[in-house]
Amino acid sequence: MAEKALKAKCLLCGSEFTKAGMTKHLQSCLPKDIDNSLKQKDLKRHPFFHILVTGSDSPEYWLHLKVKSESGLKDLDQFFRDIWLECCGHMSAFSYQRNDLPMNRKLKNVLSPGMELLYQYDFGSTTELLVKVIAEYKGSIQKNKSIQILARNEAPEILCNECGKSPAVQICTECQWDEAGWLCQSCADEHECGEDMLLPVVNSPRTGVCAYTG
Ligand SMILES: [Zn+2]
Ligand SMILES: [Zn+2]
Ligand SMILES: [Zn+2]
Ligand SMILES: [Zn+2]
Repeated sequence: MAEKALKAKCLLCGSEFTKAGMTKHLQSCLPKDIDNSLKQKDLKRHPFFHILVTGSDSPEYWLHLKVKSESGLKDLDQFFRDIWLECCGHMSAFSYQRNDLPMNRKLKNVLSPGMELLYQYDFGSTTELLVKVIAEYKGSIQKNKSIQILARNEAPEILCNECGKSPAVQICTECQWDEAGWLCQSCADEHECGEDMLLPVVNSPRTGVCAYTG
């Protein structure tokens, strides 16, 4: 799968950037956003982290997040499950330099800028994420929102392995390992492995894995 230079939108200012440009952009856009919101209203300042989450084996899937430092690893875990991962309630874990981190730890007691954690969901058909701490700030936080999405990758367009013409919308879990399982709807309808083997293509590093349907 070739990684095209897809652009995604910064949800703070609306400008569009590639994956490489977004990290740089947010390092200037986020402090500006903090300044602006503090000028507008006299809001309480909370410490938060700017975090970049990327699929280990599929870096075309990524999220920039603003996460309240008071929240816990278990809140991040729940967030990853909701947006990207949850299929059958598998186990998951965060680790740093091969040491597992307890889920009840608060981010402020674990994270610091520059640090990179590993996150694994499902120890059978594992989806692994890299959690990189870009920076820490103090600023206003959206009400009742301990985690806010700053930017998210656009769904990569992957062409059907059979006809090579239309975008794939289904994945055959039997055939996907030899790069033959990504199918457009009409090729999926005729696919020999049958409907039970098919999973929908979704914008997640867990697309086509286990029973993940988005
Ligand atoms: Zn921006
Ligand atoms: Zn599962
Ligand atoms: Zn096709
Ligand atoms: Zn198949």
